[in-house]
Amino acid sequence: MRLSWRRSSDAEDRFERWIAQQHERRVLAGDTTAPGPCPDEKFLWDLARRSPNISLSDPRVDHAATCATCMSRLLVLRQDQRIRGRKIVIATAAAICTILLVAVFVGRYTTRHARTTDNAVAVSQTVDLWDTGTVRGEQPGQLQAVSLPAARIKLTIVLPRHSTPGQYLIAITRDQSGNGVVAEGLAPTSTNGAKQQISTSIDLSKAQAGQYFLSTTHEQDQAAYYYPLQIK
Ligand SMILES: [Zn+2]
Repeated sequence: MRLSWRRSSDAEDRFERWIAQQHERRVLAGDTTAPGPCPDEKFLWDLARRSPNISLSDPRVDHAATCATCMSRLLVLRQDQRIRGRKIVIATAAAICTILLVAVFVGRYTTRHARTTDNAVAVSQTVDLWDTGTVRGEQPGQLQAVSLPAARIKLTIVLPRHSTPGQYLIAITRDQSGNGVVAEGLAPTSTNGAKQQISTSIDLSKAQAGQYFLSTTHEQDQAAYYYPLQIK
């Protein structure tokens, strides 16, 4: 695996940090499956202090980024190192961010890969938010009951009128604060006549039926809009 860093804007940094936090929360909640056994303490220590001896292609890095035990340990080690000086902390935080981003990209790759093999069972669904409120701060309006099946879904979302084009993070969450992420996908808008829409694949096949929220977050303004959603 190779990482190529491009110079990102502050907005992109914030967005990536936000994604990393979402990922961190899922890992700590035990929602991810880590490949292989836990590495030893020395490896985690080296990882936390971003040792040049560690290669990002080392499978133990993937493990640490998806294992609740290792992730908690890394956070503790990072805390320990915070005492050792601010300079180190910045590097460590950056290292953990890097690990999380690697995990997110690996996850995205894996999802995409899985998607190609499972294409046959993906269900196409469209959620039309065109007529919902778009004024910031306004409650998402009288949304027609949106429901999605518990399956792999090729989801198309027609964004509300006057939505800004760009990259969006789509998430299905348990509550309206973004907790309990069931599925998420990142995709750019495309234009369909006067409308902006997003297409992404999400996997709800393991989701339990019930009430959820669909959220859309534009990468730049970071404001998340939540819409009630039912999974059947
Ligand atoms: Zn572990």
